[in-house]
Amino acid sequence: MKIEEVQSTTKKQRIATHTHIKGLGLEATGKVIPLAAGFVGQVAAREAGGLVVDMIRQKKMAGRALLFAGPPGTGKTALALGISQELGTKVPLCPMVGSEVYSSEVKKTEVLMENFRRAIGLRIKENKEVYEGEVTELSPEETESVTGGYGKAISHVVIGLKTVKGTKQLKLDPTIYDALIKEKVAVGDVIYIEANSGAVKRVGRSDAFATEFDLEAEEYVPLPKGEVHKKKEIVQDVTLHDLDAANARPQGGQDILSLMGQMMKPRKTEITDKLRQEINKVVNRYIDEGVAELVPGVLFIDEVHMLDMECFSYLNRALESSLSPIVIFATNRGICTVRGTDMSSPHGIPVDLLDRLVIIRTETYGPAEMIQILAIRAQVEEISIDEESLAYLGEIGQQASLRHAVQLLSPGSVVAKMNGRESICKADLEEVNSLYLNAKTSAKLLQEQQDRYIS
Ligand code: ATP
Repeated sequence: MKIEEVQSTTKKQRIATHTHIKGLGLEATGKVIPLAAGFVGQVAAREAGGLVVDMIRQKKMAGRALLFAGPPGTGKTALALGISQELGTKVPLCPMVGSEVYSSEVKKTEVLMENFRRAIGLRIKENKEVYEGEVTELSPEETESVTGGYGKAISHVVIGLKTVKGTKQLKLDPTIYDALIKEKVAVGDVIYIEANSGAVKRVGRSDAFATEFDLEAEEYVPLPKGEVHKKKEIVQDVTLHDLDAANARPQGGQDILSLMGQMMKPRKTEITDKLRQEINKVVNRYIDEGVAELVPGVLFIDEVHMLDMECFSYLNRALESSLSPIVIFATNRGICTVRGTDMSSPHGIPVDLLDRLVIIRTETYGPAEMIQILAIRAQVEEISIDEESLAYLGEIGQQASLRHAVQLLSPGSVVAKMNGRESICKADLEEVNSLYLNAKTSAKLLQEQQDRYIS
């Protein structure tokens, strides 16, 4: 049995609960629509977020960053996601928590650097030539050819292809013949050939190319130049970190990532500064050639007060870089000491960094807003729940936290099903609420029963 590397899913999970957020929900004038794009309330912060999006578009945020200051569970992550979506589709969002930098294996700045690169997207555009034509001839052909003095016999396949520009005879690799026969392609059928710089890459029955061929012998697979039937633009979005990782562990294959993963010859096994520099070089070349376009995304650092001086000075430098994403910090702390120093500062952030920040406050939700948010989540998770239960869940949210209330939805629906119901009712929620403690209740219990625990 092979032991696979365990891939961390925390990044995906952190976004998973926010799938209903589709933007900031603003009018063209920047005014907040109370309930839009999956967003409820938090009006001032959303409007401020909209202004920041405008500033980013006008390139007035360079070297600066954003700070959301507010109690936990006030939608700070949701706002960061909303901002990234306002900036465009496929703009990457990389969420992290300040304490992530403290790992025994990786340097703090290394963790920050990796997350910076996760938040910088690259849109790669490939122009593919696609021939569409009717097969008029299909036969294997033995050809005597002298290559490098070995006098090897090379077999070709001859395809007659009637395209809009007339019929052409194409000599193709025999692997194509085998695959065409396997696909039961016959004279009279319409096929598609995808080429790259005049060399056949793929052949299929549709231009989605279900059948793939890995052809290496480009020199004897010529296609008539200048007779491309149509060009197809293929767009692929990746992050700089995807490229780092793909090049650190090249796997081979035909998709763009694995091809880009073979950009560099000496294959490395881990992401190093040198590898990143090489990737940057290749990326810059692609950008100059117009093949790729940079898509700066959003790096969201929650609990920023957990970072220390070393991290802050790294961030100060990184924000200056031309390859910087939009950085959004979040904290629920007021004035506290900067970690690792005895210096006291607002939000535990050193003043020089604080100077660069645009600060947005987030407010706690009232019961009506919480109920609305819970109703949206129930709908997204396809959970049916009645009004009374929603109101009860809203109360739980007020007492514990919004997150806790949202998290009770899916166990609630499981219990409802076990009780033979399609829709959640209050009794189901009472049952799960008694089974799962929220953080506040758990802390209270610990305090009350202190003598029963080892301290
Ligand atoms: P914070 O980062 O401030 O702790 P969060 O964005 O992580 O907050 P949670 O407390 O996890 O928010 O919120 C629970 C759920 O409620 C999430 O699914 C989140 O997307 C959603 N949510 C929070 N605020 C809003 C809002 N104003 N409108 C719609 N959904 C919201």
